[in-house]
Amino acid sequence: MKKIIVVKFGGSSLKNKDDLSKILSVVKMYEQPLVVVVSAVSGVTDRLMVALDNIRNLDVNGFLVSLNSIYQGFLEARNPELKARVYEIKDLLQGVRLIGQVPDFVYDRVLSHGERCSSLLLTQYFNQHGFDCEEALPEQFGLTTDGRFKEATVELEVSAGNLKKFFKADKNYVVPGFYGLSGGQMNLLGRGGSDYSATSIGYCLEAERVDLYKDVSGFMTCDPKRVRTVKPVKKLNYDEAAELSYFGARILHPTAVDPVRQKDIPLYIFNLGSFTAIDRPDTIISSNGAVAETVVKSLSFTDDLAVIRFKGSNVGRVPGLLGQIASTYGREGINIKSVVTSQTSINILISSQDVRRCQEITPKMKIAEVENVFYRTDISLIAAVGEGVLQKPGVAARIFSAVSRHGINVEMISAGASQVTIYFLVSLKDRNRALQAIHREFFEGEKHENGG
Ligand code: ASP
Ligand code: MG
Repeated sequence: MKKIIVVKFGGSSLKNKDDLSKILSVVKMYEQPLVVVVSAVSGVTDRLMVALDNIRNLDVNGFLVSLNSIYQGFLEARNPELKARVYEIKDLLQGVRLIGQVPDFVYDRVLSHGERCSSLLLTQYFNQHGFDCEEALPEQFGLTTDGRFKEATVELEVSAGNLKKFFKADKNYVVPGFYGLSGGQMNLLGRGGSDYSATSIGYCLEAERVDLYKDVSGFMTCDPKRVRTVKPVKKLNYDEAAELSYFGARILHPTAVDPVRQKDIPLYIFNLGSFTAIDRPDTIISSNGAVAETVVKSLSFTDDLAVIRFKGSNVGRVPGLLGQIASTYGREGINIKSVVTSQTSINILISSQDVRRCQEITPKMKIAEVENVFYRTDISLIAAVGEGVLQKPGVAARIFSAVSRHGINVEMISAGASQVTIYFLVSLKDRNRALQAIHREFFEGEKHENGG
């Protein structure tokens, strides 16, 4: 029996009627049965978010009329079934408007509604245009999560059992991305979560491949907005792709690689805008990632970062200190992205949005050994990613001398947390120049004094 392929279309590929016919022509090219995962129409998730944020003043009817017209706008004739789907959140919106606040379970249900409208839209459109398929919803097939709202993790084993029972191997399905369920309640998988839905479903059904259609041409050697001379990256291994996503490359949801890595399922990334053939993706992510000649394959960065530095003459040597800090933050739901320690300081890297909370909590910790706590937010983290960056002699030296030749100060370095990444912090104001310097060093063959 043929293995299925999971194909995902992002919201940026769903802007107008032309996009639908393009998507249709793509799905018709496959010979295998497909599970098509779909995001909300471009901009809809943000609209739902704004509506919930201003729930007390929301004109529920006006809002639903405009949401319905966005979705109906894709079809030739008005579609009552689709309208009924759009209006499914009406009672919910009116209810939360009355009480004036939005409980988590309502929030996740409403925010994922754009996806449920998309899946019905696509199902209807496909069936009207000669591509037979059935809609399947996560609440029907049991995509199960850990129950966390907004940023849930998929329980892959439980889900696999459920999905294998539900999906028939010889049929096409259309599925809304972005959420799973726990105890009957919907949980979002984080922004951009439809990628993660697609790879999770790929895992559960042991797909031959997962194909993600986006509006960018896969991974690049750097963000084209920061470096003009970027080149495409054709092949990445799972670790490289995961690290790049974790450290700011906005191409993939940061958790999306995990399910396909576990089952060694190749992940293809296509730009729908420049699509040519289903065996010609822009980037292939697999266990066959091939070590690059340049060793470094790509640079990514994030500005969504702050450092909390606990200083004290002995902090690096006191057992249990780090644990105390980490568990206090953990209890408050603050995610520690990384930790760098030395004899005299413990540096905790967190998301910028958590700084305020940390400033409230930290003074209450009362740790005798800590003399001072400093906060830095005007920083950026740069990650140089490639299999071998840590093993191959001289790679780190090339990175740091390229940066220092441009007079940029490296604030903190960390390597070793992952086998494929060297990362370091620079001042926010130096971020672009640092990226350009390293990019030139590895990808543009710049000649410099040391002859390197
Ligand atoms: N629509 C959701 C978002 O905008 C999920 C996705 O696009 O993958 O984050
Ligand atoms: Mg999106």
